[in-house]
Amino acid sequence: MLDSIRVFRQVPRVVFGAGSVEKLRGIADARVAGGADYMVVLIDSVHRSTGLRARIESILPANALLVDVNTDHEPTTSQIDETKASILKAKNDRTPSLVVGIGGGSVLDISKAVSVVMTNPGPSTQYQGWDLVKNPALFKIGVPTLSGTGSESSRTAVLCSRDKKFGINSDYSMFDQVILDPQLLVTVPRDQRFHTGMDCYVHSVESITGSFINSFGRVFASSSLELSRNVFLGKASDEELMVASFFGGASVANAEVGVCHALSYGLSLVLGYRHGIANCIAFNVLDDFYHGYVDEFRTMMDRNRVQLPRDVVKGVSDSDMDKMIDMTLKMERPLTNALGERWKEVLTRDRIKELYKKM
Ligand code: NAD
Ligand code: ZN
Repeated sequence: MLDSIRVFRQVPRVVFGAGSVEKLRGIADARVAGGADYMVVLIDSVHRSTGLRARIESILPANALLVDVNTDHEPTTSQIDETKASILKAKNDRTPSLVVGIGGGSVLDISKAVSVVMTNPGPSTQYQGWDLVKNPALFKIGVPTLSGTGSESSRTAVLCSRDKKFGINSDYSMFDQVILDPQLLVTVPRDQRFHTGMDCYVHSVESITGSFINSFGRVFASSSLELSRNVFLGKASDEELMVASFFGGASVANAEVGVCHALSYGLSLVLGYRHGIANCIAFNVLDDFYHGYVDEFRTMMDRNRVQLPRDVVKGVSDSDMDKMIDMTLKMERPLTNALGERWKEVLTRDRIKELYKKM
C-alpha cells in the first residue's frame, strides 16, 4: 500500500482540438531562442506515407533536426543510446533545447527517454526503474498520432533491454506539454486502433480495481473507463478516444497497472508482440482476476470484429517460458497493486505458466 498522502503529477499544459498540431511552431518558437539553439523532432517513419511528416517539416524552423523513428519493434535501451549519439553527432555535440515526439506510444516513450539521457550521464538502462533519474530532463512536447497507451500523460517511458521490459518512471520523464489533435488518428489501421485502445481500457480497469488508487485517482480511471466504453461499445469519436487515453495514462500515473501488464510484458519481451495486442491476449484469460471486465472486453472485440491469435506460446522453449515467467515476477509493484503484499502466494510460477498456456 502507498502512503495515504500522495502527490498528483500532471502534464502542465495540454493543447487540444482538431488542427491543433499547427500550434507546434508557435510553441517551439517560444522555447528555442534561435542562433545555435535547436529542437529535435522524433517522428514515426509511418508519417512519411500519411503526409504528416511533410506537414510538420513545412512548419518547423530551418535548423530543426527531424529524426525518423522505425517502430517495427518496441523501443529498446540501445535505441535510446544510439539516438542520443546520432543527435549529438548531427549537431556537433550541442544539446537540443526542446524534444518533440510525434507518433504512438513507441515514439512518445522514445522522446521521453531521449530527453532524460540528454541531461543524465551513462546508458539508459541505469534509469529503468522507479525514481532513478537525478537531473531534470530537457523540455519535451508529445504529439500522439495513435491513442491508448496514455504515454502522453504518464510518468513512464517503457524500454526493452536484453532481459527485461521496464520503464523509466520519474517525474522527469513526463511531458511538459502535449498537443492532442484527433485528426492525426484518421490514418490508424482498424485493428491497431482497437489494440492500442484496449491498452487504455486495461489501464483504467487495473487502476480502478487495484489497491494503490485513492478517490482522487479514481476520477481519472472512471472517466477513462466510461469514455473507452463509449468508443468501443458505442459510436464515440477519435476525439473521445484521445481524451480516454490521456485520462487512462493519468490514472496509471496516480495508481498502477496490474496482472495483465505483468503477463503482457513477458509476451512482448520474448515473443515480440506489440504492447496493445499483448494486453488483449493476456486480458482474455484473466477472468479469475478481472471478472466482468473480461466479459465486457470480449463484447468489445466482437463489436469491433477483432480476433486474437491462439496458442501463442506453442513451441516456446522451456528457457523462453522461464524468461517470460521471470519477467512477470519482476513486476512487483503492479502485482502488489492487483493482489496485495502476499501476491507471490497467488501468482506462483506454475500459475503464471498455466495462464500463458491458456493464451
Ligand atoms: P506504436 O507506437 O508501437 O505504433 C503501432 C503501429 O501504429 C506502428 O506501426 C506505427 O507506425 C503505427 N501508427 C502510429 N500512428 C499512426 C497513424 N496516425 N497512422 C497510421 N499508423 C500509425 O503503438 P502504441 O500501442 O501506441 O505504443 C506501444 C508502445 O507504448 C509499447 O512500447 C508500450 O510498451 C508503450 N507503452 C507506454 C506507456 C506509457 O505510459 N509510457 C503505456 C503503455 C504502453
Ligand atoms: Zn499499457
